[in-house]
Amino acid sequence: MAPDTYKTRGLRNKLVKVLENKGITDLRVLQAIAKVPRHVFFENALLEHAYQDKAFPIGEGQTISQPYTVAFQSEKLEIKPKDKVLEIGTGSGYQACILVELGAIVYTIEYNKVLFERTKKFLPELGYKPYFFHGDGSKGLPAKAPFDKIIVTAGAPVLPDALTDQLAEGGILIIPIGDKDKQKMVRIRKKNGKLIQEDYDYFAFVPLLGEQGWNK
Ligand code: SAM
Repeated sequence: MAPDTYKTRGLRNKLVKVLENKGITDLRVLQAIAKVPRHVFFENALLEHAYQDKAFPIGEGQTISQPYTVAFQSEKLEIKPKDKVLEIGTGSGYQACILVELGAIVYTIEYNKVLFERTKKFLPELGYKPYFFHGDGSKGLPAKAPFDKIIVTAGAPVLPDALTDQLAEGGILIIPIGDKDKQKMVRIRKKNGKLIQEDYDYFAFVPLLGEQGWNK
């Protein structure tokens, strides 16, 4: 694993400034971005890409999300320490590390077996220990529900009922919804059993696969 050096810490602090300039204001989220080494998710030859504000391929046709996207979704979740959070789309595990830094108890589910195995091994080596699951997260994780917060890190065609069902009263779900190459970021709050929706800007995620995702 590439060491965390004066240089990589400096690059992370610069990334934090970039995110602040793009409108991220939650200090705890910015501190988490400043803390989690993103370059260790990249091969050595690609280190220069790690602290640019862009998504990057991680193999298996998948990506590590853009730092701005990670910060935006994390901020909108309003994480409080000990919140029980479900992440759908473990991928590299970077977003899960940010959630752990925010004090959440993280359950993360990944559909791709290779990524699931790789990240389940790698994250604890880095000192982060969410609960890992392999399976179709478009159906949520009913065995562990309800969740205070749910974050979907792949683009869904529609809002999956399973996820709103598994959201606790007072809970927040953040999910990109749209077509395969562009999705609107949507936040759902459950208040007195009712779902309150807020819409944000467009983002570009890889597709959410599975029963309540893109199944073809
Ligand atoms: N959160 C990740 C990170 O920090 O690197 C980025 C996730 S990547 C943009 C989207 C991930 O969602 C991919 O790893 C993909 O395999 C996964 N995925 C797609 N459909 C899924 C499903 N139905 N259940 C769980 N994971 C899914």
